[in-house]
Amino acid sequence: KPTVAIVGRPNVGKSTIFNRIVGERISIVEDVAGVTRDRIYSSADWLNYDFNLIDTGGIDIGDEPFLEQIRLQAEIAIDEADVIIFLTNGREGVTDADEQVAKILYKTKKPVVLAVNKIDNPEMRDMIYDFYSLGFGDPYPISGSHGLGLGDLLDEVAKNFPATDADAIEDDVIRFSLIGRPNVGKSSLVNALLGEERVIVSDVAGTTTDAIDTSYIFEDQKYRIIDTAGMRKKGKVYENTEKYSVLRALRAIERSDVVLIVLNGEEGIREQDKRIAGYAEEAGKGVMIVVNKWDAVEKDDKTMNAFVADIRDNFQFLEYAPIAFVSAKTKQRVHGLFDKIRMISENHALRIQSSVLNEVIEDAVARNPAPTDKGRRLRIYYTTQVSVQPPTFVVFVNEPELMHFSYERFLQNRLRESFGFEGTPIRLITRARS
Ligand code: GDP
Repeated sequence: KPTVAIVGRPNVGKSTIFNRIVGERISIVEDVAGVTRDRIYSSADWLNYDFNLIDTGGIDIGDEPFLEQIRLQAEIAIDEADVIIFLTNGREGVTDADEQVAKILYKTKKPVVLAVNKIDNPEMRDMIYDFYSLGFGDPYPISGSHGLGLGDLLDEVAKNFPATDADAIEDDVIRFSLIGRPNVGKSSLVNALLGEERVIVSDVAGTTTDAIDTSYIFEDQKYRIIDTAGMRKKGKVYENTEKYSVLRALRAIERSDVVLIVLNGEEGIREQDKRIAGYAEEAGKGVMIVVNKWDAVEKDDKTMNAFVADIRDNFQFLEYAPIAFVSAKTKQRVHGLFDKIRMISENHALRIQSSVLNEVIEDAVARNPAPTDKGRRLRIYYTTQVSVQPPTFVVFVNEPELMHFSYERFLQNRLRESFGFEGTPIRLITRARS
């Protein structure tokens, strides 16, 4: 999927445009994990276009002075995006700060589309001519608050999408990433994993210049570790900010089949760990929880179980994720991660035969009859798997309103008991039979 970034000085309406384009995509899990606040990255589908959108305005970079902040945001856009939307404010005309942003953007070869916001009605269109002076060709008039002009703008953006998708799915590769707070040991773990088998095929450039993935083969299976570069420290000013690392993590998750959430065994579970885990669940990826630095933990025969209980308690929405206790330093149990990753990726892509699926559901309903509400009973007619990664099922019923959350949970649990699905979320969608 191509990535589009919105840049521009403060107050031109970046987040309004961002929200307009991505729409409301808030899920329960996100709320639980506190993910929804300050959203800066989302997938978007507008008409027939499917892309990822970044609001660079949401990335605050510490105590840097104002101009420096917007300069750095423009650099982030250049690093992370395939196409850049340069947003300005028609009501204020071209400002010094706009020119500063333009200066940074001149340095990139990536396509830049200039948008002039707050053109709320046709009479205001003349205000866009001023903006030719920025040197990015035709300015596109839009109105974020009225939702005008976005179609034309996105048509132009889409014309500039790269022709070949570097992430085009290769079926036989398992793509996984390691995400987690700084210093939990992600890069050490990557090194330990790669050290296991020195058959590194290549470092391949991902969709963006900065995303370096490492490909290798282990026991005849091809793997790709997504965004290994993002795990190494490279010393740009913005790289240590929390928002930027969240952005990197989101992008890595997006491109992965399986996500390894890395925790620091020495430090236990922190708020930030929960947020990161929330992103992985929300994205519908295969998930495994890896507790690293287990060598450094003082332990007795109860320590591991206590830690597991703590994880289950804090990550209730990931009850299906296997947990491993490892040490990148001593390599204890690192080897075993491969099998788990492979198993999760298989479950994530598992397709269940319709007949078997319906048998399991019928059996579940026979054991625990569907709920009634005001004398009406939910009737399940038929269940079908509509997609994989993650496995997604549509349950056709008489009245979808009668499907309660708890009954849906019950059906999900029955599917898990029957088919495993360890490490992968599964989705149930209830529809009225038409
Ligand atoms: P990242 O920021 O998540 O990539 O973390 P790093 O891989 O850079 O590791 C952070 C620090 O933790 C380094 O000083 C590592 O040497 C140390 N570290 C990483 N893994 C382990 C481990 O398994 N055991 C111990 N004791 N230290 C570790």
